[in-house]
Amino acid sequence: MDFQAIQQTTRELIASLPEGVTLVAAGKTRTPEQLKAVVAGGVKIIGHNYVQEAERSIAALGRVVKWHCIGHLQRNKAKKAAAIFDMIETIDSQRIALAVDQACASLNKVMPVLIEVNSAEEESKDGVAPDQAETLIGELLDLKHIRVEGLMTMGPFSDDPEDSRPGFRRTKALFDHLAGLDLPGVSMRHLSMGMSDSYEVAIEEGASMVRIGTRLFGPR
Ligand SMILES: *Cc1c(COP(=O)(O)O)cnc(C)c1O
Repeated sequence: MDFQAIQQTTRELIASLPEGVTLVAAGKTRTPEQLKAVVAGGVKIIGHNYVQEAERSIAALGRVVKWHCIGHLQRNKAKKAAAIFDMIETIDSQRIALAVDQACASLNKVMPVLIEVNSAEEESKDGVAPDQAETLIGELLDLKHIRVEGLMTMGPFSDDPEDSRPGFRRTKALFDHLAGLDLPGVSMRHLSMGMSDSYEVAIEEGASMVRIGTRLFGPR
């Protein structure tokens, strides 16, 4: 799709989202020109899976939007990630949380983070098991340079969006449970779930953030 088409598609998609649902444009493999087109269409947040790719995009576009880390984060990339991202959506272990916290401490910043939940409970997927999320968050309460602001989940690999519904529903129930605990320093305000094929189901199940690539940019 050309600039105009991406801009228009983005506009229409944003207009179709219910109040309170935020679009994160999933920017992996896209050119700066394509990213500029979604920004022209109204995107306020771009998600990247890799630190290096995010660095390139940020160099090209600047801080005109917020930049989220939506890919699995390696510990040796925590420093770079802490420096460039505005939110890390993929915290799934105490180890990686500690690395980000330490890096943010030296930068004198507090990083908003989401806990990535493996709602499909597939071996190959990243994310903490749903029944371990509360324990993990408990281990992070003392960290002063990250702030837990919600949950993120991927759906199962499937062509049928309905296959994602049970996992999304369980993640929302977990989200509500954690919000009800009212943990100190934790504010459960973002539930990031749903992609091009599944975002409508995700919104029905309570998503407040949807991460969309293909629908905006066309196939990769
Ligand atoms: C690529 C990606 C998306 C968006 O996927 P599409 O099917 O292209 O919309 C969302 N979340 C993550 C973590 C991704 O890597």
